[in-house]
Amino acid sequence: MPILLMALGEYATGEYSYSQVADDLNAQGYRTQNGRLFTGYNLRDILGNRFYEGKVVYHQGLPDEQIIDGSHKVPEDVRQLWLRCQVIKKERTNRPTGHPRRESHDYPFSHVLKCHQCGNSYHGEAVYYKDRTKLRLIHERHSQGKQCNTLPKSRSVESLNKEFGERVLAYVNLDEGWKTRIIAALMSNGGISEDKADQNQAERFRKVLENLRKQHLWGDISDVDYKRERADLERQIKALTLDTTPVEMPNLERAAQLLNEMPVLWQHPGVTNKQRESLVQEVFNKISLDGEALVAVEPKPAYAPLFADILMHAALGYPEFDSPPSPPA
Ligand SMILES: [Zn+2]
Repeated sequence: MPILLMALGEYATGEYSYSQVADDLNAQGYRTQNGRLFTGYNLRDILGNRFYEGKVVYHQGLPDEQIIDGSHKVPEDVRQLWLRCQVIKKERTNRPTGHPRRESHDYPFSHVLKCHQCGNSYHGEAVYYKDRTKLRLIHERHSQGKQCNTLPKSRSVESLNKEFGERVLAYVNLDEGWKTRIIAALMSNGGISEDKADQNQAERFRKVLENLRKQHLWGDISDVDYKRERADLERQIKALTLDTTPVEMPNLERAAQLLNEMPVLWQHPGVTNKQRESLVQEVFNKISLDGEALVAVEPKPAYAPLFADILMHAALGYPEFDSPPSPPA
């Protein structure tokens, strides 16, 4: 009963859609009586069931439909909340443009999912079946020129989410050595120059600067001279060390952090398909589906060095991922 109260209470605020309430319950670790994740439909069913109003309906939807007071006892707080939810529900149904937070159809793989055989895109489609909405990604029907023989021609978003988590993200795991290895790789590619002579010269200037500071402290040189010489030395040190600053690193750190969090985020029941979509958009250029299996991923340039590292140094054990990630731009 506390779950029911919580769900009704949240919906009654008018702030949340069915699926947002369901996501919240899931995120807090609650499950249905069958041990499944809540969906927006669970709440919709509850709000469509007059049992919670204390009523019993006979022959629902038929000409001789009859609604009577039930003999069952519904706690008054549940009944009151349920009634308040009816008002919210009615407001939303009457809104001509629809509520902005209504249940939306988001496809985590829109724009990036391609057919491995013909390269065509998959597009999202909401399929209504037995009073339920199922989201599917469907192979482009019209291939240019040649007919594509890949099968099946569509996959449910649910199964793709699962497969992506289990067969792709499960292997996304950067061990502690990634940073050292990537810096080494970038340096050997000329990405980060490290001129030994420049380094030594900069070090000498730093020592001169330190001496200058001491002389100034002891009153051996004037303020004006000190400031002028200090500015000059600092400028030269900066010029010498500029090239050795690994410019790519802050972005790479951020990318690595997101990549390491992604497998857990992806599976988290509180994460929506919309959020999954932004994760995919952030990291991947292309995800290739060969009918029934995801077979290759192409990361965005910012993530390519990290994926290269994962492929090189982790025991992937997944030989179907055959296409190497593109080199850093
Ligand atoms: Zn195809």
